[in-house]
Amino acid sequence: MVPSHSGKERTISPLHWCAACRHPLKLGVVIACLLSILLLCDEPSQATYVVFTIDVCWTCGTDFQGACGGIEYGVPLIASKLEKYGIKGTFFVSPYYPPHLEQETLSNLKSLVSRGHDLQLHTHTEIFDLSRPLLNRYGKEEKRRILSTGIDNLVKAGAPRPIAHRAGGFSVDGETLQLLPELGIHIDSSVFPLWSECKVCLPESDINRFVKVGDVYELPVTLIKMVPWVGYAGMTALSLDSTIWEQQQSALNQAAHKGLPVATIFFHYHTLFKCTWSGVPYQPFEVTGPNEANITALENVLKMLSSDTRFKVVTVRDLWDIFLKNPTSLDGPSFIPYTGLYLAYIKSWRHFFGHHSVKNKIFALGPILVILIVAGGCVYRFRFRRTSRGR
Ligand SMILES: [Zn+2]
Repeated sequence: MVPSHSGKERTISPLHWCAACRHPLKLGVVIACLLSILLLCDEPSQATYVVFTIDVCWTCGTDFQGACGGIEYGVPLIASKLEKYGIKGTFFVSPYYPPHLEQETLSNLKSLVSRGHDLQLHTHTEIFDLSRPLLNRYGKEEKRRILSTGIDNLVKAGAPRPIAHRAGGFSVDGETLQLLPELGIHIDSSVFPLWSECKVCLPESDINRFVKVGDVYELPVTLIKMVPWVGYAGMTALSLDSTIWEQQQSALNQAAHKGLPVATIFFHYHTLFKCTWSGVPYQPFEVTGPNEANITALENVLKMLSSDTRFKVVTVRDLWDIFLKNPTSLDGPSFIPYTGLYLAYIKSWRHFFGHHSVKNKIFALGPILVILIVAGGCVYRFRFRRTSRGR
């Protein structure tokens, strides 16, 4: 109780203690300010580094260009799309070739070097032995020779000495991780637990984290969860090949919101074209036309990343420099974006006839089959009851 001007005492409700609370407008402003502060506190202070990693599994064939009807849909188109937004990609190129295709391979690699993109080492080993197409099929000394030859060939093409490696078919093992630092390679980007040929297992708490494994740093292929409760079976890579644009957008938004320090966007040199199997060694694809859905998805991702300040697009080489300047800059939590069952279902229909189409067909048709079985059961029971009553 306090005295009023008239000398009478008046009661002050708790609300009167706050002058702003007498005014609905002021109260609104105060609440809005508090909410803004809370939201700002929730926003991560550091940008999420995003790396475009493009696997060029063959560099000695004309499917590198991916020409069809006089238009190139392979590596040159990918480079042009990135450059349109002022972005450089990291191309993991397999720089191996049979002797008669040396000039073609070096010319392909030089075209990327001259455009200022980042070339790193990708090891597809069919060139050495068609019966052993994966790196983990070779002994330690053979692996050393394969890695050294790849490094030499990249340098021969005019690229800086590589500092990162991705094994073809994700066929990395402990031996390879031991060899990489001996050859001046500091980063491996092959750990992909969904692939059975990947022989390096990291704990789940390290998923999507830039972590040290032995003497090398692992830049993992970013995983996203499409279906919950089924572990790795419900996950896929943040890839233009295995996801749709809506999933890519959702995953990137979540990564930025949660403050994931670094994410990789993964795709192949053949992602922007449709093709059939050619049967020609070292040039597996016969281009049949553009893959419009993937071209649109890449445009959308590029627009999003180049206009949103929460992201900073870098190459693997840039990322290594950032890490060397500040070794804690890539520290952060393990986080797997979950893009939801609805988008997983939409994706299964859009990729019904595409890559991994068996999985997509099962996922797309499964719910319809279940509904038909339940409906059929209900109709049968209803008719059975009517028949029983009629007797
Ligand atoms: Zn590959």
